[in-house]
Amino acid sequence: TALYHAKRNGRGRVVVYTQEMEDAAKRDTRIEQALRRAVSAEEVQPYFQPIVDLATRRIVGFEALARWTDRDLGFVSPSVFIPIAEERGIIGALSQLLLRKASRAAQDWPGDLFLSFNLSPSQLVDQNTADHILTTLARASFDPRRLEVEITETGMMSDPASAEKIVQDLRAEGVRISLDDFGTGQSSLGRLREFHFDKLKIDQAFVASILDDRASEHIIRAILAMCEGLDIEVVAEGIETEEQAARLVEFGCRGGQGYLFGRPAAAAATMRHLTTFAKLPAAS
Ligand code: C2E
Ligand code: MG
Ligand code: MG
Ligand code: MG
Repeated sequence: TALYHAKRNGRGRVVVYTQEMEDAAKRDTRIEQALRRAVSAEEVQPYFQPIVDLATRRIVGFEALARWTDRDLGFVSPSVFIPIAEERGIIGALSQLLLRKASRAAQDWPGDLFLSFNLSPSQLVDQNTADHILTTLARASFDPRRLEVEITETGMMSDPASAEKIVQDLRAEGVRISLDDFGTGQSSLGRLREFHFDKLKIDQAFVASILDDRASEHIIRAILAMCEGLDIEVVAEGIETEEQAARLVEFGCRGGQGYLFGRPAAAAATMRHLTTFAKLPAAS
């Protein structure tokens, strides 16, 4: 086609780029419209992935992960629709729907398992966020001390003062704060200290290369040493093999998450798993 030739001979690059941008914008708008409908119809679901104590393999909590299958678009990944929800002002409604469903599901879990919930960067510049979260928990009679919120370095950097205020309001009610995807953003170790994170999640990229990349090994060990000194808990994300788990235990990492221990599952399947197979502290 003409466009293809334009790209090949280099002269039409701007044309091709514009066309691609237009296609992407159209795609995003389709997703936005379908997502708005899905949110009002409450069709987006939280799935739950176990977080375990690496030494005992006991489940200590679950991370809620958004799942959406649209009747026309099919399955859409959260790494596609969450950024669109953010850009197009749907994230607040979407997040409240997910937290409502997730806290209701978690309410029925045995034991004191925690629920970990992701917050988007734009939610950390919105001063209603803490209030919305706490109100949603109260309505579900969910103890805020069983909630952890995961925020990313990017999330806290766009307006650190605003993010810190929200974090303080949540922490005042007992919510714990977790730093997600650590090592991938513009890390400032100073911020780590200022924010008093309760937990840090080592990004799965480091775990993926732990066995064959000395650099990843050193980075993970340095993170673990630093967190021990700062009294911050650590969870390694994306553990897929026994070899990776063994390595992490050897380095002194306490928490783990990944396909090795369980894939994200729907609320009902999670509940079934907990009441039949899970190694839990004595049933309460
Ligand atoms: P995240 O918070 O870092 O979540 C971890 C991602 O890693 C999830 O992808 C999870 O399914 C995936 N994962 C877990 N274990 C393994 C493993 O062993 N191997 C591999 N390869 N992947 C693993 P998912 O569910 O596709 O979510 C992608 C991202 O979308 C999340 O990254 C989070 O940033 C965002 N997200 C998902 N749900 C929500 C939500 O409810 N609210 C917000 N704000 N963001 C969300
Ligand atoms: Mg997360
Ligand atoms: Mg993560
Ligand atoms: Mg991630």
